[in-house]
Amino acid sequence: MNVAESERMAGQLQKIGYTLTEDFETADLILFNTCCVRATAEDKIYGKIGEIKKYKRQNPALIIGVVGCLAQKDGENLIKHAPHIDFILGTGRRGELASVVQNFESKRRQFVDISNVSGMIDDENILPIRAGKVSAFVPIMYGCNNFCTYCIVPHVRGRERSRLPNEIISEVTETVNAGFKEITLLGQNVNSYNGGGKTFPQLLRDVDKIDGLKRLRFMTSHPKDLSDDLISAMAGGKNICEHIHLPVQYGSNKILQKMNRVYTVEKYLELVKKIRAAIPNISLTTDLIVGFPGENDEDFQETLKFLQEVQFDMAFTFIYSKRTGTPAATFENQVDENLKHSRLEKLMELQNKISLEKNLPYDGKTVEVLVEGASKTDKNIFTGRTRQNKLVLFQHGTENIGDIVNVKINQVQTWLFKGQII
Ligand code: SAH
Ligand code: SF4
Repeated sequence: MNVAESERMAGQLQKIGYTLTEDFETADLILFNTCCVRATAEDKIYGKIGEIKKYKRQNPALIIGVVGCLAQKDGENLIKHAPHIDFILGTGRRGELASVVQNFESKRRQFVDISNVSGMIDDENILPIRAGKVSAFVPIMYGCNNFCTYCIVPHVRGRERSRLPNEIISEVTETVNAGFKEITLLGQNVNSYNGGGKTFPQLLRDVDKIDGLKRLRFMTSHPKDLSDDLISAMAGGKNICEHIHLPVQYGSNKILQKMNRVYTVEKYLELVKKIRAAIPNISLTTDLIVGFPGENDEDFQETLKFLQEVQFDMAFTFIYSKRTGTPAATFENQVDENLKHSRLEKLMELQNKISLEKNLPYDGKTVEVLVEGASKTDKNIFTGRTRQNKLVLFQHGTENIGDIVNVKINQVQTWLFKGQII
């Protein structure tokens, strides 16, 4: 989501004469688009903001702005910590970035604006400057209404707002016409999309019909409202990829309830069964949090058992991070840091074993790969992804970036496949 939003901010700034640069030394403006979902993300940003102080000393005209979730959450405190910041703009004000920058250029007065957290963004129809050439993100909604007890997102991004379907369709059409092959529709919970009276499955079917689009993905789905209609839209889709990211967060009902996830382990398993029955070659990935307050050994063992049962293709695993302002931060029985780490290790060890087992049947098979580009370490090796979102490495031949090729897999690992184009 942050990548997608940064691309739109770059689009806004281009309109007022800025161009993108990676070079801090010569930049006229440095903008931090921040995340505060976990303490590690936050610490990293505080570190980076400190590091760029030297550029301001070298070039006093340099403008430094902080936008995004941490800007929304910490506001004035960020300036207190780092007075070299020129402006702080909250999440509901992102659409005004260009005028804010222009205003600052003329007045040079430090300011903080974190009002309007649930407001419209108004940069939806600004043409983004996309980082990639093959695969593009298209936000379909902003904010979140779910208030999982551990999560800061609804507090810093405000309530759910859906974009209108015709705006989404035009953006996807334009992007595909510009040569992109793959589109990922984005939202904190795409299943509760409701734009101009359309549901998410209806929108998905409409986007799927766009000429020239080769692959359609979406992220993220909350299990509580993943509907039968979505499953049938996926099963009957033309370009909708056989992959679903369905964060479960935990594998015991006691903790799920404390997290306010509003489903049970049994409901989740039922959902997985339905999805797999309708789309047999689907890959299923998830997010998991260990060390949530009140987690005991029994809960953790239940989660390991749950992982064995579901057999996810892959899981993003996180250590619970206390976020001030969320209910879970005040819960009793916070888990000891060392215990959190040792549980994370056990969880990852089991999931890595499962991921490898899930990949083994692909050995010797031929898969359809969308070519993304050369590997960072070896320009003769190209990378791409299967429809199931599995990473594939192969020897570069005559194919081009953006082509769809058939690759015969001859080596299977936990996170990637190696093979040859046939
Ligand atoms: N809206 C998406 C998730 C957005 S945040 C969804 O509900 O699926 C991405 C992931 O960060 C979450 O799925 C969760 O696993 C993790 N996360 C959120 N808050 C966290 C916290 N306080 N500590 C650790 N992980 C957290
Ligand atoms: Fe956070 Fe839950 Fe909303 Fe996802 S659904 S962003 S985890 S509150």
